[in-house]
Amino acid sequence: MELETGTLASGSKGNSIFIRKGRDCIICDQGLSVKEFLTRAKGVGIERVSAIIITHEHTDLIKGVEALSQSYNIPVFVHEKAFKSFMERVADRKRLKVRTFGDSPFYFRDFKITPFRIPHDTVYPVGFTVEDGREKTAVATDLGKVTEGVMENLKGCDSAVIETNHDIELLKSGVKYPEKLKERILSDFGHLSNESGAGLAAELIKQGTKAVMFAHLSEENNTEIHVRSAYGKIFEENKIKEDDAEIQIALQKKPCNFGRIYGKRQ
Ligand SMILES: [Zn+2]
Repeated sequence: MELETGTLASGSKGNSIFIRKGRDCIICDQGLSVKEFLTRAKGVGIERVSAIIITHEHTDLIKGVEALSQSYNIPVFVHEKAFKSFMERVADRKRLKVRTFGDSPFYFRDFKITPFRIPHDTVYPVGFTVEDGREKTAVATDLGKVTEGVMENLKGCDSAVIETNHDIELLKSGVKYPEKLKERILSDFGHLSNESGAGLAAELIKQGTKAVMFAHLSEENNTEIHVRSAYGKIFEENKIKEDDAEIQIALQKKPCNFGRIYGKRQ
């Protein structure tokens, strides 16, 4: 695929997704330190970042935005309804180059970027599809459930980054998380379980999606083995064969993309 999608980091300790075509690269969320970001970006051959687009203002997604943006003069795109809440988390508001977008698609360089609502517990969280006129990729992470709107927007994408945050049993039986936090994660405004994420992926693959990256795995309440077992079962039920789509699982510690894993997984 010419429109390449991958993760520089994925998980509660910091998230950053890259979407690039040729030398142009958009970063979706940036929860890494500048040093860590640059090391990982160099590792995957990112030469320059044209823009940073923000899904929502949770710390694991935005803590590195300001530093990266200011260091390299990169514009930051935030939904107009999340602007105030985002800016409250910015230290030096005057220096940050922020542009807002609404609910309609907007264009940047060769990319058409379409935001869509996701159910999550911030002011106005969104997912994105990004198109280059030939291919379409999608980011749907940090959402409590798959709504009709989410499904509608993801339809027809060639590749997608989809949340598989937790194994429901691991989360429920775990002792580290207080009950309130468990309730939040399991709610419609929390995070997708392995089953829900795999179900969404199955629907997309049946409609022609060729590559799925399962992402935002909880360190406490999930493992790659649990994700594989969940999608294995759901794909089998949906008669999806191994070569129907490429499946990857995004990692916290290393960048991942389709067709190639950078470095050893462990
Ligand atoms: Zn979040």
